[in-house]
Amino acid sequence: MPSSSDRLGDAEVLAILDETGAIRHGHFVLTSGRHSDTYVQCARVMESPRTTVRLAEEAIARLPEDVRESIDLVVSPAVGGITFGFAVGYALGVDFMFTEREQGKMALRRSFEIPEGAHVLVCEDVVTTGGSVKEVCDVVEAAGATVAGVVSIIDRKTDRVFDAPFWPLLAIEVPSFAPEDCPLCAQGGKAESLGSRSLAS
Ligand SMILES: [Zn+2]
Repeated sequence: MPSSSDRLGDAEVLAILDETGAIRHGHFVLTSGRHSDTYVQCARVMESPRTTVRLAEEAIARLPEDVRESIDLVVSPAVGGITFGFAVGYALGVDFMFTEREQGKMALRRSFEIPEGAHVLVCEDVVTTGGSVKEVCDVVEAAGATVAGVVSIIDRKTDRVFDAPFWPLLAIEVPSFAPEDCPLCAQGGKAESLGSRSLAS
């Protein structure tokens, strides 16, 4: 566990995400065609393994003690959740596995097996609606294990589709506008195209 002097407040988490380019501010075209002043690409923060482990340590420090002590496995959805989930498993000193889609359906592959009765922390990088998280929870429960909770680096604060307790490191709303209603365009600005699925919203 990190000592209290190593703990990160919300402002420090935001500063790390800003400095690494995981959150950018400007004028962007999302893949949906809508415009936004904010661009989230969480993979950028994971270019630094040490920073990723620091965020993972903070994520587990925020868990209620009884939940933290109960966890014996971390499971993440591929691809976005893998790096952070690995770091969280490392910080907790427990095993880590990931799920991936097999013919469109979330599944455990690569001979991974979730032990029956395990207490599992589901770990994702960015939660929008949490559709992938919900599918991982279903895989965990189908194995006879229990979802102890969910952690993520970023919560996009949209309507979530999973019920498990959720401890995101940072909650941010990313407003978007139809181009004709975009206040940045109205000021005469030109939007930057970024072309990544992670922009979709
Ligand atoms: Zn615009």
